[in-house]
Amino acid sequence: MTSQTQEPKTLQQAIVYFSNSDNCLMYLVERRWPDGVVICPTCGSNNVGFVASRRVWQCKTRHPKSQFSIKVGTIFEDSPISLDKWLCAMWMLANCKNGISSYEIHRGLGVTQKTAWFMLQRIRLALQSDDGGMLGGEVEVDETFIGGKARNMHVATKKRRITGTGGKDKTIVFGMVERGGKVKTQVVSSRKRDSLQPEIRKHVEAGAALYSDELRSYNGLEGDYAHQVINHAVKYVDGMIHTNSMENYWSLLKRGINGTYVSVEPFHLFRYLDEQSFRYNNRKELNDAGRFDLAVSQIVGKRLTYKEVTGKVDKISGH
Ligand SMILES: [Zn+2]
Repeated sequence: MTSQTQEPKTLQQAIVYFSNSDNCLMYLVERRWPDGVVICPTCGSNNVGFVASRRVWQCKTRHPKSQFSIKVGTIFEDSPISLDKWLCAMWMLANCKNGISSYEIHRGLGVTQKTAWFMLQRIRLALQSDDGGMLGGEVEVDETFIGGKARNMHVATKKRRITGTGGKDKTIVFGMVERGGKVKTQVVSSRKRDSLQPEIRKHVEAGAALYSDELRSYNGLEGDYAHQVINHAVKYVDGMIHTNSMENYWSLLKRGINGTYVSVEPFHLFRYLDEQSFRYNNRKELNDAGRFDLAVSQIVGKRLTYKEVTGKVDKISGH
């Protein structure tokens, strides 16, 4: 394996760089096995030899699947799509602010739209981050509705018209954001106290300053937090008391979902949430190459079959 050029910093450089399959392999090997010792994904042995002609490793221990490629044990496992396409798709999803649609991947990389959709779902799995610690300092919490008819309603109208669970065709997303810091979002079953407060206690440090709107489900947090409420019927900002960071994040999320993705089924929504929070939470410390590097380092140990993604039994097409 030889690497001719420097690692890419832009999408254009990534396309050129990863058109060389040795570069793809080298890039992945360095992130998967940072200390340079290749480990058999089946038995964990490091007694393996590289078969250069086939770009696979041979484990010296006798067991089924003793030959393995770089794809085995990662989100790429069992995929006939070549690594250059996978890595370009990853670069785009890790870095395009509003996301990228399966249609764009289909046209840009020359795979079917169905395949492109499946690739994106697997990449989103890699973008799913570990918990990342508690939020602290000044934290805003808010809920929003995704999908259904509420999508096109103005926020104020929506808040007035929709109460309780928000109706059958809408999915409720709950968000918490540390001002100037990270965001955590998730699908919740209702806007009731029992759905929201455990999440706050789980993800926000006790003693933090908490800002929310006047939804009654937030009552009772005063014991653990300095909780301040903005009454949106009166005004949207009262000094420090507002939920603007969270509102801005919802706009970003909805721009991605409504603009880039034609429709997102509630069942799949959490993957889009993971995708957007990956980009948002790594917006400051990392540049494009850094976000891509991080995404690649998270491909191991995650698999998603077509059946798991769709609930159907099907085979993904090769091209
Ligand atoms: Zn082995």
